[in-house]
Parts: sequence; structure tokens; C-alpha cells
Amino acid sequence: MSLKTDGTIFIFSSPSGAGKTTLVNLVSKNKKFTTSISHTTRKPRSNEIDGKDYHFVSENKFQDLIKADQFLEYAKVFSNFYGTSKKLVLEKLKSGENVLFDIDWQGSKQIKDQTINFNILSFFVLPPSKEILYQRLSNRDMKDKLIASERMKDFYKDVKHWIDYDSVVINDDLQKCYNQISKIIDNFLLYKKKIPYNRLMIEKHIRKLIS
Ligand code: ADP
Ligand code: 5GP
Repeated sequence: MSLKTDGTIFIFSSPSGAGKTTLVNLVSKNKKFTTSISHTTRKPRSNEIDGKDYHFVSENKFQDLIKADQFLEYAKVFSNFYGTSKKLVLEKLKSGENVLFDIDWQGSKQIKDQTINFNILSFFVLPPSKEILYQRLSNRDMKDKLIASERMKDFYKDVKHWIDYDSVVINDDLQKCYNQISKIIDNFLLYKKKIPYNRLMIEKHIRKLIS
């Protein structure tokens, strides 16, 4: 294992609906990074494909994978299980590929604890406002407005974890947010330095979000 030749771990977390999956897909497409495909016990959304967006599995199968120590990390989020397959991800990193993780704050903590020998850069994505977040969740989960409301309930709990991340970005205009993330990633890959973000501005934004 070598910090110089191994790939880098890029973690993206956010309150549900802020846009991290959209941003991860953009980074993956533009920078040709691998995205870790998680296992989940959640039912697929109408536009999701098994093996591409997630490996959709039963709860029994998920429990078997836990017992067989197949996960690098796993967590229960919104009453479903989600987990990152250990073998595939470590193989990719060791072969020099940069890997993107779209995972919650619990998974992020576990990865940071367990992969100390890899370079890690973590992003926390914030919505421009609570109203826009609700709109995004409602548009995405057209079939069930209840899902959007349930996820909004966890917003206050989830958002407080911004403090544990290397970079915190506001996903208002998608392209602008992507450009900001892209610069931070390029800088990290070139110089292994984490660009400090404007903490005062983010704190002010968080205060507005939770008020
Ligand atoms: P998350 O992965 O954080 O739960 P998604 O990436 O699934 O969120 O985004 C939630 C919804 O918001 C999706 O329908 C997505 O297309 C939309 N979306 C994401 N970013 C933006 C943006 N900057 N402006 C408008 N809509 C967005
Ligand atoms: P969704 O159901 O919207 O796809 O995802 C719900 C939450 O689970 C999101 O915060 C997402 O990042 C997180 N998630 C997705 N895959 C994993 C995973 O493998 N591990 C963990 N810990 N969280 C995940």
C-alpha cells in the first residue's frame, strides 16, 4: 500500500436531496473516477438500475454480507440498510483508481477510521434553502410525497455533521457547484493540500437553514 500510487477516496455526504448523487455522477463522468456502487435494502426508484445505481438486495442477503465481513462500512439510513463492498473498492484503490463514495455521515466516519492508509478528501453538500430542498425531494420522489416529508424530518439531524468534512459546498447552481468541487479535487490531486473553505459564510448559511 502506498499513499503515492494508490487512488484517492472522495466522500460525498449531505442531507437527503441536496444533490450529492447528481454531483458524484458529474465528477465521475468528467474526471473518469470510479463510483463505489453500494448495496441497499431500499426498493429501487423508477429510474434506478440494479448494478448501476445500487446493488438492490433483500434484508436477509444484507445480513449475510455483514456476517461474511464483506462491508468496508454499513449503516441504517431512513430504515433501510446501505453498505460499501470492501473487496471491490480496496482493489480499485490499490490499482490507483480514484473512487467516489456517495454515503451518509455514519459511513463516512467508518471509512475515515478504517482506511487511514489512503488519501481521503470529503465533501458535505448543502442545499440553498430548506424550501428548495423540499422541492428537490418532492420532484425526485414523485410517487410518494410521504418519503420527501420523512426525509425532511431528518434534515436537522443530518445537517449538523457538516463540521466533520474537509469541504462544505452549497449546491445552488449545479454547474457552479461542480466547478467549485472540481477545483478542490484537482488541487488535492496535484498538491495533496485541502483548500480551506469560508467557514464563517457556511456557519451563517447553516444558521439560516436550521432557523
Ligand atoms: P441526494 O443524492 O443528495 O439525495 P440527488 O442528487 O438525488 O440528491 O438530487 C435530488 C434532486 O435534485 C434530483 O432530482 C436532482 O436532479 C435535483 N438536483 C440536484 N442538484 C440540483 C441543482 N443544483 N439544481 C436543481 N436541481 C438539482
Ligand atoms: P438514497 O436512498 O437517497 O439513495 O440514499 C439515502 C442515504 O444513504 C444517502 O445519504 C446516501 O448517501 C446514503 N448511502 C448510500 N449508499 C451508502 C452506503 O453504502 N453506506 C452508507 N453509510 N450510506 C449510504
